[in-house]
Amino acid sequence: MKTNEVLADLKRRFPNEPEYHQAVEEVLSTIEDEYNRHPEYERINLIERLCIPDRIFSFRVSWVDDKGRVQNNMGYRVQHNNAIGPYKGGIRFHSSVNLSILKFLAFEQTFKNSLTTLAMGGAKGGSDFSPRGKSNMEVMRFCQAFIAELWRQIGADTDVPAGDIGVGAREVGYMYGFYKKMAREFTGTFTGKGISFGGSLMRPEATGYGNCYFLLNMLATKGIDIAGKRVAVSGSGNVATYTVQKLLQLGAKVVSMSDSNGTIIARDGLTQEEFDYIFELKNIMRGRISEVHEQFPHIEYHDGCRPWRLVQCDIAMPSATQNELDGDDADALLAGGCFAVSEGANMPSTAEAVHKFLDARILYAPGKAANAGGVATSGLEMAQNSQKLSWSAEEVDAKLRDIMANIHAQCVRYGRESDTYVNYVRGANVAGFIKVADAMMAQGVL
Ligand code: NDP
Repeated sequence: MKTNEVLADLKRRFPNEPEYHQAVEEVLSTIEDEYNRHPEYERINLIERLCIPDRIFSFRVSWVDDKGRVQNNMGYRVQHNNAIGPYKGGIRFHSSVNLSILKFLAFEQTFKNSLTTLAMGGAKGGSDFSPRGKSNMEVMRFCQAFIAELWRQIGADTDVPAGDIGVGAREVGYMYGFYKKMAREFTGTFTGKGISFGGSLMRPEATGYGNCYFLLNMLATKGIDIAGKRVAVSGSGNVATYTVQKLLQLGAKVVSMSDSNGTIIARDGLTQEEFDYIFELKNIMRGRISEVHEQFPHIEYHDGCRPWRLVQCDIAMPSATQNELDGDDADALLAGGCFAVSEGANMPSTAEAVHKFLDARILYAPGKAANAGGVATSGLEMAQNSQKLSWSAEEVDAKLRDIMANIHAQCVRYGRESDTYVNYVRGANVAGFIKVADAMMAQGVL
């Protein structure tokens, strides 16, 4: 396999899908050597079957808004690969959603889920519907219309969706409720459900906490203590808020958070009181990050800016969206002394930024390793649902810590280079790839 030839072919067959091409290129360039060690893979053209999704559903979602007007959105589900377990991956509701973004996310999810060591294949779905500014009833009607189309394609042992950008406990509740009505079964077909109907304790916290646990494992390789370190975080949604909550528990200084309109900077670090306000503002009042400055005037608000060039930090944890940290941002971070980047979002750093981090030999954890705690805990939710049991928060948290330590160990095993630098990108991709490729080989051409 030659990465550039496979990529050129995918670009020709699937033009205008830049995020998908970007994700595939990043993975192929790091697994090429491992792939080429196995001529049997090439004989069955495994690489194309690994890059091209098993199937894609796309459909119109029509719903009625509060003014009685009919609205039409697009809905999608990309079932990428189920070699090692049922399709599994979140649903994203955001105006930017298109097939390129969902194909990149489903592709990444396949490797991430393999890394968790749990039995989950890769998928992703979503819609260009944005819940922001919609009433609860509008969100409910949309979710029901979305599931009216999708319910036949999903199931507890077939394809198990979860949340992602724009899809939290409220949206999962509405979708699961309608799924249950259509399928006439109460099974673990969604994860991220409410605790009273099969959800797992710690699932909301899992992605952010898991990223912090991964970071702790990375820092430990250098003997660095996180206490007192300045951490820049982007986003203020599920992943970002629980990342900040855990960072404060660990004694770190959180110097930024953001949303799609702007960034807040707390030069001395957020206090617990300030964070408690932000948590309630974002999770309960569904407010905007700019309101933090109105409440606490010493916290700066920078409209239209991302955090990376506004404040000096030791550690960066991008936790908003894809390609939110570019090459110039990477230069600014490195110039300011940043020595670790641990990604909460999926593919938040552009390819140029990633190369700069790797060239600078800093600790750099790609999202598919660092944010895998979310889907891993979804896997634990599926296990609890199958057994019709609920585990305590301590039990789930202990398993999450173990899983993140295990993912870290796999990255080190496959990513260590001759000068002992750990290339976590290579490590994560190769470790995730080996398990899926072995399963695909054993199962024949499907
Ligand atoms: P949320 O919807 O809860 O939060 C997303 C945050 O990112 C919000 O602050 C949002 O701001 C901001 N954001 C969204 N789009 C953009 C944009 N185009 N530019 C700037 N900011 C933006 O989503 P999550 O926290 O769940 O997801 C965040 C990231 O983490 C995503 O990349 C997701 O794929 C990834 N992830 C999530 C997991 C989970 O368990 N939830 C698991 C693994 C990865 P605004 O409010 O203005 O839209």
